[in-house]
Amino acid sequence: MIRSTTTALEHPMLVKAVSFRLESELPSQARFLLEDFRLAVNRAIRAGLQTRVTSRNALCKLAYKDFRTEHPGMYAKHLVSVFEVAASTLKNHRRRVRKGKAGQIPYVKRLFMKTENQAYKLDRTNGVVDLPIRAGCHVELRLVLSEYHRGFLEDPSYSLGSLTLFPGRVVIAFRKTEPRPYVAESVVSLDTNERSLDGVFVSEGKGTPIKAFFPQVAAIQQRHHDRRKRLQKKKSHDRRTSRRLCRREGKREHDRVEYRMHQVANAVLDFAEEKRAAIVLEDLKGVFKPREDKALNRRLSMWPRRKLHQFIEYKAQWRGIPVHKVDPRNSSRKCPVCGRLQDSRKGTEFRCECGWRLDRHINASLNLLQTAVSKEMVGGLRFDPGALQHDVMMILYDPERGARSEPNGASCEGASA
Ligand SMILES: [Zn+2]
Repeated sequence: MIRSTTTALEHPMLVKAVSFRLESELPSQARFLLEDFRLAVNRAIRAGLQTRVTSRNALCKLAYKDFRTEHPGMYAKHLVSVFEVAASTLKNHRRRVRKGKAGQIPYVKRLFMKTENQAYKLDRTNGVVDLPIRAGCHVELRLVLSEYHRGFLEDPSYSLGSLTLFPGRVVIAFRKTEPRPYVAESVVSLDTNERSLDGVFVSEGKGTPIKAFFPQVAAIQQRHHDRRKRLQKKKSHDRRTSRRLCRREGKREHDRVEYRMHQVANAVLDFAEEKRAAIVLEDLKGVFKPREDKALNRRLSMWPRRKLHQFIEYKAQWRGIPVHKVDPRNSSRKCPVCGRLQDSRKGTEFRCECGWRLDRHINASLNLLQTAVSKEMVGGLRFDPGALQHDVMMILYDPERGARSEPNGASCEGASA
């Protein structure tokens, strides 16, 4: 989960919510705090509804004194969070009322509590949260740390935001001022396909074809689809079980695809950062080509590609890597040398009457690059398709061989054109 917030005076802040599992079961005092918190939130919601008050401050003014006596044990800062959670629940409720979708009186069912960064302490070396319950009573929560989690704890450029406690886990918001994107010295232009990113890396007037493979993503989707179908057939007498099992399958598929997409995105961004390159991608908004073949339609679902773009974009934002998105219209049909439009999309090679021949996907990325150049998105960069090195191919990511085993990222492959 990621969002960026901007206030008038500050630089844009990036916020990333990171979930940590707890090493052991929640101490009983903390469990009690969760229940007390939920009770207080639901009371505050009711108080707000009765008096038509919805802002946190107004709620606080209205009810703080009563709450102090009703929840004498609760740490004052947690009580303020109670009003904040209640206020946001009320705001959502009001929105639904306005839209005519008002349900019943809102209440919070889930067991959780939220608190601001002044109200807890985090030992960033050992991953221990010190959470006050009431005066003189604190609990220590040991977080399970992976390398990913340590990355957030150990990087001093992250400051701490709110903490949300659930029965088995803790979500901590890490905040960082959005870095200003660097001034690009080169460009990576990428066409996004079903099994790979295909593109060109342009530096000092020379262009090199590049590829990042994710062949398994389509295969994973296919495998899970088949399994789901089998399950539905087998459990057709028991719809509830069938639905539950299908949901579980869906979650697994989702996780596996996302894992791959993270790896591909990281490989592309590592390369771009190393070369101080801007990234050019096609704008996938609204791109969907309906096809006759239903099975093919599903297989070619846009979802993984959109997801991959999302990953690239938000990771780039955190790392200060410039990303530009361009309209992909005609990018698969156009000849980047003479500008003619070709109708045939068959075969792996793009051919033009002017003699231009190139891998169809790489060719599309050249067109994306030219669009970015013509819109002056990538500074004063110029690129002549004639300066493309046809005999070299750089592989940024290939799961068969692991991510970029060669230190300079250049692994040569046979000629492609
Ligand atoms: Zn041509």
